[in-house]
Amino acid sequence: MSAVTSGIHHVTAISGEPQRNVDFYVGLLGVRLVKRTVNFDDPGTYHLYYGDGAGSPGSIMTFFPWDGAPKGRIGAGQLTVTSFSFPASSLGYWTERLVESGIRFEKPEDRFGETVLRFPDPDGLRLELVAASDDRREGWSEGPLPPEHAVRGFHHVTLLSTDPESTTRLMTETLGFRQTGEAEGRTRFEAGDGGPGNTVDVANGSGFPRGTMGVGTVHHVAFRVPDEETQLELREKVAALGYNVTHVLDRNYFRSIYFREPGGVLFEIATDPPGFTADEDPERLGESLKLPPWLEPRREQLEEVLPPLSVPAVSR
Ligand code: ZN
Repeated sequence: MSAVTSGIHHVTAISGEPQRNVDFYVGLLGVRLVKRTVNFDDPGTYHLYYGDGAGSPGSIMTFFPWDGAPKGRIGAGQLTVTSFSFPASSLGYWTERLVESGIRFEKPEDRFGETVLRFPDPDGLRLELVAASDDRREGWSEGPLPPEHAVRGFHHVTLLSTDPESTTRLMTETLGFRQTGEAEGRTRFEAGDGGPGNTVDVANGSGFPRGTMGVGTVHHVAFRVPDEETQLELREKVAALGYNVTHVLDRNYFRSIYFREPGGVLFEIATDPPGFTADEDPERLGESLKLPPWLEPRREQLEEVLPPLSVPAVSR
């Protein structure tokens, strides 16, 4: 069997002030802060991970909060929109919740038969909530929202590719995606079991201004593989095509490789194991600052630099 991905693992974006980020994602979207750590490549800044109760692949949204850094520009060569999934029966609940929270969302749109609510996060990152007709995943059952309404994880992501033909070829011939739909300037691809969390839309961004990295933009998207063996096989396949792919990096909660796809988006391939319980009890996820073994000696110094964070109460 050829090594392929089975869907989305996580999406990583750049935010501004970390407390505002936590307030929005936990307090409004009701996703769980599953890990509070630092950017391993820049340990003086946080790396915050949100997800369902366990931080399952396909639900993990992560942020590098770069407080005071310049704003980026969303554009071609980027993952431009991150879409979360909730049950279609909760459309009224979510519409009302956004209105009550003062979130200005655009006129609901129908996409492939599902209703989509579009709005920015506090840093201008483009988000969507999709009223999913069939999403069997559970959300965070102990979170601030009634479990029946909770966000289930990602629905899909949208890539604005500068070269959609080449992006499509890479995704279908190498990464294991299959085309499942086409509508309004976007082509839909699904991997593995398909459905929410395993879906990527590719839109044609040739002729659009290029995006620039900064606050309010997505840094990369990671696709999942079940183990390190599959990751190494996939790495060989990608390298053989001439991509400049990194060595395997230890991200503590998964192993990662990175390469830039021909349409401009930074792709990562991440392993499902070991996951977020590698260094924390499932009940205590995200409660304290966790550092990888190689940064533990610098804990005191890092704790001094990092701003304090409080997570909105989870009582309903
Ligand atoms: Zn990543």
